[in-house]
Amino acid sequence: MNPPIYNSTTYAFERVDAMPRYDYARSGNPTRDFLERQIAQLEQGKRGFAFASGLAAIHAVLSTFKPGDRIVVGDNIYGGTYSQLNEFFTRWGLVVESVNTRDDAALESAVRGDRANGVAPARAVYFETLTNPLLKVNDVRAISATAHRHGALSIVDNTFATPYLQQPLSLGADVVIHSATKYLAGHSDVNAGLVVVSSEDLANRVYFAQNRLGGVLAPAECDSVRRGIQTLALRMDRQQENANALARYLLAHPLVKSVHYPGLPGAGDQRLAAKGLKGAGGVLSFEVVPGVDPADVLNNLHIFRLAVSLGAVESLAELPCRMTHFELPREERLKVGITDELVRLAVGIEDANDLIEDLGQAFDIAYARYRERHIDSDVLGALTPKVFA
Ligand SMILES: *Cc1c(COP(=O)(O)O)cnc(C)c1O
Repeated sequence: MNPPIYNSTTYAFERVDAMPRYDYARSGNPTRDFLERQIAQLEQGKRGFAFASGLAAIHAVLSTFKPGDRIVVGDNIYGGTYSQLNEFFTRWGLVVESVNTRDDAALESAVRGDRANGVAPARAVYFETLTNPLLKVNDVRAISATAHRHGALSIVDNTFATPYLQQPLSLGADVVIHSATKYLAGHSDVNAGLVVVSSEDLANRVYFAQNRLGGVLAPAECDSVRRGIQTLALRMDRQQENANALARYLLAHPLVKSVHYPGLPGAGDQRLAAKGLKGAGGVLSFEVVPGVDPADVLNNLHIFRLAVSLGAVESLAELPCRMTHFELPREERLKVGITDELVRLAVGIEDANDLIEDLGQAFDIAYARYRERHIDSDVLGALTPKVFA
């Protein structure tokens, strides 16, 4: 039932002129091929590629551009991608321009460039389906159409949605990227990245980068991701159910100022289906009310573990300003809405009531600490009635 894990790095030729299907494992390996076909099929693409991490996958895709090429990038992308672009690729001549991809006019103008002043149209638009950690929904169809009007490629990081909730290539994107470390592998035990492209030409360019740069995924890890994908639907269904229950609980909690989860009824970014998404996924974030220290909540959780990453079977909580997004300058963070009070939850497959109870007891402790700190001040008065309401 399961494909074998081929560990051989080299393959015997029958004769010098009989080129075998596989000759050397960096160039191709049957276990990796299986995973690459699996993800290509799920994303409805031409061809898939497996890399040693999400960032290795992103590196390979971005390396297909030339010095001077301009890439328009979503204004709230994964921190590691932001650093790779701004600390590495700009040194090699890529021009990176950040834009709010949900603002049609701003996106159009950034992609079009300004020929009169020597700014050629962008070569690509790079964005994420659901932004991290504020879970804003990017409309793949609309953004890809804008990119294509100016001859740019549409490149989507689909890590947060997975092909179970959305297949960007079928909505018009040209390249889809995954950190398979997250939902696809699903158990916090493998670093992996995947790329799927829509055309033979792009496939040749990405294959060249994969083979020349060499950041390939090892056979045993390919098999871990393959197995993870087999339970993706079951895990994601449960994670979404839990995330929905938690979002509703948080929305009603007196210590919570705001909840960011596109699955909530009435959320600003509703209309998920209209944007081609079958669900809101298993990540959400919230802000505690002013005066409450989010660290008091996070440090007192027992079922949620305090950790970065997401998409695995266990629930994780983290403070973006100090953990996942600490590399982003504070002004940049605040500009996109990542405040010091923002907490991110990556919801696992545990019992929803256990997760709610865990948050509840941590909020109680955070509130007690708040009272200790504000015992003599008026601020307490403002919060107390709401807490006991
Ligand atoms: C984690 C992540 C990455 C980077 O993937 P690694 O496997 O950690 O290299 C890229 N994009 C998103 C959206 C991620 O969450």
